[in-house]
Amino acid sequence: RESEERFRQIAENIDDVFWMTEPGPIEKVLYVSPAFERVWGRQSSELLANPRVWLAAVHEKDRESVLETYEEFLQGMGDFDIEYRIARPDGSIRWIWDRAFAIRDRDGNIRRVAGLAQDITQRKADEQKKGQLYKEIKHFAYIVSHDLRAPLVNLRGFSRELEMAMSVLRPAVEKGLEQMPQENRREVQLALEEDVTESLEFIKSSIHKMDHLISAILKLSRLERTELDFERLDMNSLVNETLDTFAHEIEEKGIEVRVGVMPDTLADRTSMEQILGNLLGNAIKYLDPKRPGLVKIAGWPHGEENAFRVSDNGLGISESDVERIFEVFQRAGDRAVPGEGMGLAYVRTLVRRHQGRIWCESEPGTGSTFTFTICNHLLPGESDP
Ligand code: ADP
Repeated sequence: RESEERFRQIAENIDDVFWMTEPGPIEKVLYVSPAFERVWGRQSSELLANPRVWLAAVHEKDRESVLETYEEFLQGMGDFDIEYRIARPDGSIRWIWDRAFAIRDRDGNIRRVAGLAQDITQRKADEQKKGQLYKEIKHFAYIVSHDLRAPLVNLRGFSRELEMAMSVLRPAVEKGLEQMPQENRREVQLALEEDVTESLEFIKSSIHKMDHLISAILKLSRLERTELDFERLDMNSLVNETLDTFAHEIEEKGIEVRVGVMPDTLADRTSMEQILGNLLGNAIKYLDPKRPGLVKIAGWPHGEENAFRVSDNGLGISESDVERIFEVFQRAGDRAVPGEGMGLAYVRTLVRRHQGRIWCESEPGTGSTFTFTICNHLLPGESDP
């Protein structure tokens, strides 16, 4: 009795709705905490009189699936852990996260059902806002990079025209210089030979750089948008095909490559080729020339996901850079190795589109390990939030 009292005290002071029923032919609500009245906007007495009042309040779009889950749960098939909307008497809609646990007797019959229902309306709204914002940012990146292309083409065209005009002007000016007083001549010569020529060079190299940046952002936003085509992939063949593209370097540098047995994975082929291509490319690119290179690739099932790992005994990455390297245009370590700092940003985008995660563990001077997961039960069209 004492513990029941203590339990009541706790249940009555939480924001979530705690409830307990006695299932059976005559379903009975034994207890519901006061939060019910606030969340459902109905009297607890209504629920005590009619146990299915909570279900009647479930939004009609969710009602059928909620009822189905609940009935299955009562029959001992599956869990009751669901999110649904309720419509309150004042017409407002709330999102509920409801979980229930069966309390059974020795024979395995359900004697009581205890549940906890939480109002998650705010969380749902935040998630929706975040999803919307993410979509807008993706769209914005695409529009900006796409639209910046046109003025860039203009800049390139007009700087070429300026160069051509200069080649016409130059002999004329040089001729005119002969008639110019000595003291002005040097100034004009400097402007012509150095200022104009150098400025044009700067403009051209800036255009080139900007073109590079825009192309990279455009590629990233294309990766976010292209449709994925899921199929069951033989990962071992895919890894071997990817390694073939590096065969020359592997041979030349005498790199040892060890490939473990990997599980087949449901994924988009092009994405996986790019992910593996980038990770293996980096593993090879950032090896330490001072010791024999070793690159290992492994994969294993991990719950509903498959995990893959590419590790090397290369230069490694300092702790402060490990997170940063996945961001756009971020490079670390020795800048003598060519690259634009986009590879891992592409990889992270593709992994995310497969509902996966990627992370790196590394020690400078010892090597790096990149691990990523791929959700293995995706159906086509399910990849994006
Ligand atoms: P890039 O190779 O073009 O610089 P990435 O996005 O592929 O661009 O990689 C970002 C940075 O992460 C690299 O500049 C490098 O410093 C570091 N990096 C990536 N992979 C490895 C690796 N296997 N070993 C050591 N450093 C790595």
